[in-house]
Amino acid sequence: PSLPLFAGRLAPSPTGAQHVGNARTYLVAWLSARARGGAVKLRIEDIDSPRIKSGAAEQAMHDLHWLGLDWDGEPAVQTERLSHYEAALEVLKQNELVYPCTCTRSDIASAASAPHAGEEVTYPGTCAHRCVADALKLREEGRPFAWRFRVTENLPFTDRFAGEQHIDLKHAGGDFVVWKNGGGPAYQLAVVVDDAAMGVTEVVRGDDLIPSTPRQLLLYRALDLAPPAFAHIPLVVGEDGRRLAKRHGDTRLSALRAAGVKPEALVGLLAWSCGWLDRPEPVASRELLPRFRLESIPAKPFVLTAELLRQI
Ligand code: GLU
Repeated sequence: PSLPLFAGRLAPSPTGAQHVGNARTYLVAWLSARARGGAVKLRIEDIDSPRIKSGAAEQAMHDLHWLGLDWDGEPAVQTERLSHYEAALEVLKQNELVYPCTCTRSDIASAASAPHAGEEVTYPGTCAHRCVADALKLREEGRPFAWRFRVTENLPFTDRFAGEQHIDLKHAGGDFVVWKNGGGPAYQLAVVVDDAAMGVTEVVRGDDLIPSTPRQLLLYRALDLAPPAFAHIPLVVGEDGRRLAKRHGDTRLSALRAAGVKPEALVGLLAWSCGWLDRPEPVASRELLPRFRLESIPAKPFVLTAELLRQI
């Protein structure tokens, strides 16, 4: 079948319950695609195995339906797509774009210069002298390794929401893992292979993932795939300005539902936070289609106060 011309996606990680912050991102991603008559794809990002909770994928789909968000076709499930990630890794190896890396987390922490608060550790390049063929010897020696992508340049990009992004990847992260030590694709590789295979043309997600985008753009180029457009939107935070967490009260969608909150009340609050309603009043997701504008979403995180949460 031919792919639709325009497709967005919802990509829940079944690592736990979906909360109000996830709901806001899903709502924006869904509206952005549907408002232009585009398709919406669903992908279950369940490759982060130690953190995956059983039943959380079904719960996430239930949460999406509860919010009034739908998708086209069967969900793609990452754990069922390993052969695709393996094939992509093979291409990267053939082109000598990756190298085997035996560094542990603590090796990296002690070799890298200490990052400033909130900055990620830049890989110090300890294994960068290796080539793909060195993997054979490491295997013979029984030394486990990851595959790391060699970052040779920075790819700036224009975000549909956040504007021009110039991230100095070489000095903020450096060479990154595409295949984990112990096996299995890293998030960066899986997401690129999947978004391309699913015909996704627009990725809408939280702006905490902005630093991932230049990495993903390098992989699109390395794999000769067309990259989607990106729109990274601000997260929902608590009154203390920190990312939504347990200390901010129970904002899990399942808990709100159990407490009798109506999806329209939550969607109305989120629509108001995005500038599509003058006040938080109940509305169904599909009623927002004519009101949707990416530009009216405030550039600052949405502060979900206890007071607002009580009102819904
Ligand atoms: N699965 C990720 C999450 O739930 C989203 C990854 C992405 O949008 O690229 O945070």
